[in-house]
Amino acid sequence: MKDSENRLLKNFDIAPFDAIQDADYKPAIEQAIREAREEIDLIANSTEPATFENTIAALDYAGYKLDRVTSAFFNINSAETNDTIQKTAQEVSPLLSEFSNDITLNETLFKRVKHVFDAKDSLNLNREQQVLLEKKYKGFSRNGANLPEDKKARLREIDTKLSKLALTFGENILAETNKFELHITDETDLAGLPESTVESAAQTAEEKEKEGWVFTLEYPSYIPFMKYAENRELRKKMAIAFGAKGFHNDELDNQEHVLNIVNLRHERANLLGYKTHAHFVLEERMAKTPENVERFLEELLEKAKPAAELEFKQLENFAKERDGIAQLQKWDSAFYSEKLKQQLFELDDELLKPYFKLENVINGVFTVAKKLYGLRFVEVFDIPKYHKDVKTYQVFDEKDNFVALFYADFHPRAGKRGGAWMTQFKGQFIKDGVNERPHVSNVCNFTKPTPSKPSLLTFNEVTTLFHEFGHGLHGMLANTTYPSLSGPSVFWDFVELPSQVLENWCYEPEALALFAKHYETGETIPMVLIDKIKKAANFQEGMQTLRQLSFGLLDMSWHATDPSRITNVKAHEAAAFEGTKLYPDVAENCMSVAFSHIFQGGYSSGYYSYKWAEVLDADAFAYFKENGIFNKEIADQFKNHILSQGGTEDPMVLYKRFRGKEPNPEALLKRAGLIKS
Ligand SMILES: [Zn+2]
Repeated sequence: MKDSENRLLKNFDIAPFDAIQDADYKPAIEQAIREAREEIDLIANSTEPATFENTIAALDYAGYKLDRVTSAFFNINSAETNDTIQKTAQEVSPLLSEFSNDITLNETLFKRVKHVFDAKDSLNLNREQQVLLEKKYKGFSRNGANLPEDKKARLREIDTKLSKLALTFGENILAETNKFELHITDETDLAGLPESTVESAAQTAEEKEKEGWVFTLEYPSYIPFMKYAENRELRKKMAIAFGAKGFHNDELDNQEHVLNIVNLRHERANLLGYKTHAHFVLEERMAKTPENVERFLEELLEKAKPAAELEFKQLENFAKERDGIAQLQKWDSAFYSEKLKQQLFELDDELLKPYFKLENVINGVFTVAKKLYGLRFVEVFDIPKYHKDVKTYQVFDEKDNFVALFYADFHPRAGKRGGAWMTQFKGQFIKDGVNERPHVSNVCNFTKPTPSKPSLLTFNEVTTLFHEFGHGLHGMLANTTYPSLSGPSVFWDFVELPSQVLENWCYEPEALALFAKHYETGETIPMVLIDKIKKAANFQEGMQTLRQLSFGLLDMSWHATDPSRITNVKAHEAAAFEGTKLYPDVAENCMSVAFSHIFQGGYSSGYYSYKWAEVLDADAFAYFKENGIFNKEIADQFKNHILSQGGTEDPMVLYKRFRGKEPNPEALLKRAGLIKS
């Protein structure tokens, strides 16, 4: 195919899925990289004096074509992939990281950025421009652009080592996971397990050419085993194996790697002028400093601990009464919790599902968006789609202005990865006076309709739909000038606020009355069921909170101090866990050596974000609740100060402008039933 026939090479507004082949992506991305390079070179090699407009703004608008083509491509790779697309992803990923590295390491370009940055106080920039300037400058400085040559070289060395260590860390955990199996040949050992779990264990055994049943440390096998297996000795065996991954003093052991990683991270932070790795990371977070994070975690701990201890007592008593368990151990936790939960709530998904027909829930979330933000969703049928199941909507505001294009892709299929997410085919920005409206997409994997039954969602699926739609609103209502500050482009301890806050509407009778109607009788969901949903949602909330806090504290213990004096991983961890401990310690186990979130993935000094986001959403929703969940004034404030603002200002400032004060954990603690309301 000739270039001229590749639709992606031409300019487009709406992604032209009806006119492109899988093979078009690679040449289009290569071509777009070349064009983006030319744009960057023009900015870097300009003979004019560097200004905000010709350098900072120009950089932010550069590479638009590349952005559009790669958005389309990577969204397809997640939602409708195949061998060709996957192969292309393998081929273009290194090209794209090379391209972005070349920008960060471009010294001529950095000189111009620094020139503008150094003159920032005399430039009369507006708020958004100041934030963009800071962001662009930090993009270079945090990667060493200001360092002398020798230190720059050391930084590169550290980065190379760190990326290798992260790989090794992950490979070891994977190898450890694959190494273990629990082989069962006596059927009585399967007591308590659901049929589907037993079936897959038999299948695993067959694949391994073994008799009977094989259970592994992979989640779909491990989790149900720990939850349902009556045989306590076998649960113990599984739990200890699970907790000992990377902790066998052999070639797959991660202890040394953990120490190397934290020391290299510390050195890197010091090189760049930060006290610790946590200081470096948190500079670009709403929480700002390790002290703030630690205070946050300690405060929640103080409030959650009494509740957690009571719940633990209740669980202990339950296990003692049921099976005469004298000392509750970690491998009893999931098992007895599940039994206790069943006894307390008898809440079955099947009971709720008839009230949550997919079409009703979609109409429900659209109605909520209409009542809050005046948005109107009109299904349209002439927008090119990447799959026939995708639905497309034009979104309008109260004055009939076009707000966004919305794609909804709800059901699983072979080419789609698991989970649910929000993404964009085009982000919002303003250029040359034109407000370019975004193309937002929600992708989920909800239960499919059958010939006899429509798609009926579990309650968990309902909250997921609201969650992703909340991210969607952050994209749709964006109203900023610069592309890299628009919509969900915010600090990542702030990005879950718009999504999590919307989930709250799923628990409110006033909102449920709009859409939770029985698909056959039309009857609105009964109050007793709503009450049950709420109570079950808070089951063991104290213990859950304690667990999350323990991980957050462990994360900070590794990254917020000088790690050079730490020599024993297990001892360090035990000290960090001291204040959150409920179960006796297991000597054979160590969490840090398998804590992939912080040692392999990007969550170092960030694990606290999960709880942080919950505090934000509960506090924000409490404001709605005090004034009515459909209060137009509060909704306007949320739209004007949060949803439309993207990353154009410090999130704490945005939040305070919305709420009138800083977030307070009290609303979360009340909602979770941890303190009395
Ligand atoms: Zn989310």
